[in-house]
Amino acid sequence: MRIECDYLVIGTGVAGLAFARAVSHTGKVILLTKRAADDSATFQAQGGVAAVTDDKDSFDAHVNDTLKAGRGICRKDVVELCVKAGPARIADLVELGTRFTKRKGHPEELDLGQEGGHSARRIVHADDATGKEMIRALLETVKKLPNVEILEHHMAVNLIVPDRRSVDRICKGAHVLNQDTGEIYTVTSPVTVLATGGAGKVYLYTSNPDLSTGDGVAMAYRAGAGVANMEFFQFHPTILYHPQAKSVLISEAVRGEGGILRGLNGRAFMADYHPDMELAPRDVVARAIDSEMKRTGADHMLLDVTHLDGAFIEERFPNILTSCLKYGIDMRTEPVPVVPAAHYSCGGLISDIHGRTTIPGLFAIGETACNGLHGANRLASNSLLEGLVFAHQAALVAPSIPRPDYTGVEDWEVGDAVPSDEEVVVSQDWDELRRYMWNYVGIVRSDLRLRRARRRHDALMKEIKEYYWKYIVTSDLLELRNIATIAHLIIDSAMKRKESRGLHYNSDYRFEDESFSRDTVLFRFED
Ligand SMILES: Cc1cc2nc3c(=O)[nH]c(=O)nc-3n(C[C@H](O)[C@H](O)[C@H](O)COP(=O)(O)OP(=O)(O)OC[C@H]3O[C@@H](n4cnc5c(N)ncnc54)[C@H](O)[C@@H]3O)c2cc1C
Repeated sequence: MRIECDYLVIGTGVAGLAFARAVSHTGKVILLTKRAADDSATFQAQGGVAAVTDDKDSFDAHVNDTLKAGRGICRKDVVELCVKAGPARIADLVELGTRFTKRKGHPEELDLGQEGGHSARRIVHADDATGKEMIRALLETVKKLPNVEILEHHMAVNLIVPDRRSVDRICKGAHVLNQDTGEIYTVTSPVTVLATGGAGKVYLYTSNPDLSTGDGVAMAYRAGAGVANMEFFQFHPTILYHPQAKSVLISEAVRGEGGILRGLNGRAFMADYHPDMELAPRDVVARAIDSEMKRTGADHMLLDVTHLDGAFIEERFPNILTSCLKYGIDMRTEPVPVVPAAHYSCGGLISDIHGRTTIPGLFAIGETACNGLHGANRLASNSLLEGLVFAHQAALVAPSIPRPDYTGVEDWEVGDAVPSDEEVVVSQDWDELRRYMWNYVGIVRSDLRLRRARRRHDALMKEIKEYYWKYIVTSDLLELRNIATIAHLIIDSAMKRKESRGLHYNSDYRFEDESFSRDTVLFRFED
C-alpha cells in the first residue's frame, strides 16, 4: 500500500505532537507511533519543564546553568534560543488547556519547582505527573485537527533515501510496518520528522519505557545521516530493583529528605565518594553506586529511609510508597533495593536550529536530536523544553520544503525471507547486548572494558544482520536491530573520547582534556 502526505511525523511524544499541531494548517500530517498514542517517555516525565517565567529569574541565569552542565560543548546560540523561547512555549501549552500547578494562594501564578543544577526556581510542573498532563492536552488538541491522521501500532522500519551515498540524496519518506497485519506500507512525504525519543533500552537497567530503542537515530544513521555525542548517556542514580518492576524511579527528593545509601551489609558508603554524600551531583551518586556494585559483586544497593517518620513518608512520597508497596516493599520499615539506570541520551542526530539533519527533507526533534543544547550533560527538565521549542522551530521551515520526485521509490521487498522459527534468538541477543552495554559501556568505562564490548558486539551485529535478511521482519527484530546500531554508535563514540567529561567517565583518563572540547561525530559513509 502507498500513502502520500505532506508531513510524515514519527513519534507521538511531546516533540511529534507539538510539531503536528504547528503544521497541520499547511498540509496533511501522518503521525505514527509504534505503541498507543499516549505511550511515550514524555507521558512518564514527572518533574516538569524548565522555563524562565518569574521576575526573580533571568534568561542569562538559565543559559549559564545549561552551559555549566554541558561542560564546554554546548552551542551557546542554541542554548540562548531555547531558553528565550521557553516562556512562549509554556504560554502555548496553557492556551491549549494544560493544567500546570499554581502557587498556593496565588491562582494566577505558576508554582515553580527547584531542581539540581538550576540557580533559581524555574520548573513549571503539573503536580508530579507533568508529562501525562502535557500529553493529555496536546493529544486532545491534535485528535481534533482535520488534517492529522494518527496511526497507532505502526512502526517505521527504514527511511526512504535513494542514492544514500550521493551528495544529492534526499529523504522521501519511510517504509512502515502495520504491527496488526504485518503489512509494510510505503509512505512518501517531502518532510519526514523523527521524533522517536531516546534509547535507554540499550542498557540493562533504564528508567525509559520499552519503546525507547533509538529507532530514529538508527534508521537515519543507516541512511547516511550524521550522529553526534552518543557517548553522553545520563544515568539516574536510583530506580527500584525488582524482577517485575521495569522502571520505577525513586526520586532524588528521597535522598534530599535524608535517605541514606547503604551496601547490602548495611554500611553507608557515600562519605567515601563525595563531601556532600547523598546530596552529591547526580552523576557522582550514580558512579558511586555502580562502583560499590562492581566492587562487592552485588546486583543492587539499598536506599534507607526507615529512620524517617512513617507519617512523613506517607505525606511526602505517596506515589513512591505506593509503587514500592505494589512490589512488596514497605519503605517505612525496610530499605528499598535500588540500581542506577540509563535515563537520557544527550547524543543523537546532528541537527540545526530548525531541526534539519544532514539529509535534506529529514528532521530530528526532541531526544532523538543532537542540536547543541545539552553538550556533555543535560540540565534537569531541559528536555521537555527542547521538544517544545524545536517542534516550533522545525514548523517554521518545514512547509517550504518542495515536494520531491517520487519516481523510482520502491515498495518493500520481502525477497526470500521466511517467518522465523527461532524467536528465542531475538530475546537471547537482546539480553546479552543490554548486559555487556551495562557492564562495559555504562557509568564507568575503561579502554579494556570498551575493547571487550566491541569484540562481543561485532560478533552479535553479524548474527543480527544475518537474521534480519533471512527472516520476515517483526517489531521485536526491528527493535533489536536498532538497539544494536545504537550500541555500536555508543561504543565507537566512547572509544574516540580519550578523556572524562560530563556524562562520559573513563577511568584510564580521569580528567577533562582541552583537545577533546568538541563533538564526537560519526557518519556511516565517511566518504
Ligand atoms: C521516567 C522519566 C522521567 C522524566 N522526567 C523528565 C522531566 O521531569 N523533565 C524533562 O524535561 N524530561 C524528563 N524526562 C525526559 C523526557 O521525558 C524525554 O526526553 C522527552 O519526553 C522525549 O520526548 P520525545 O518527544 O523526544 O520522545 P518520546 O516522548 O519518547 O516519544 C517517542 C515516540 O516515538 C515513537 N516511536 C519510536 N520509534 C518509532 C518507530 N520506529 N516507529 C513509530 N513510532 C516510533 C514512540 O512510540 C513514541 O510515540 C524523563 C524521562 C523519563 C523516562
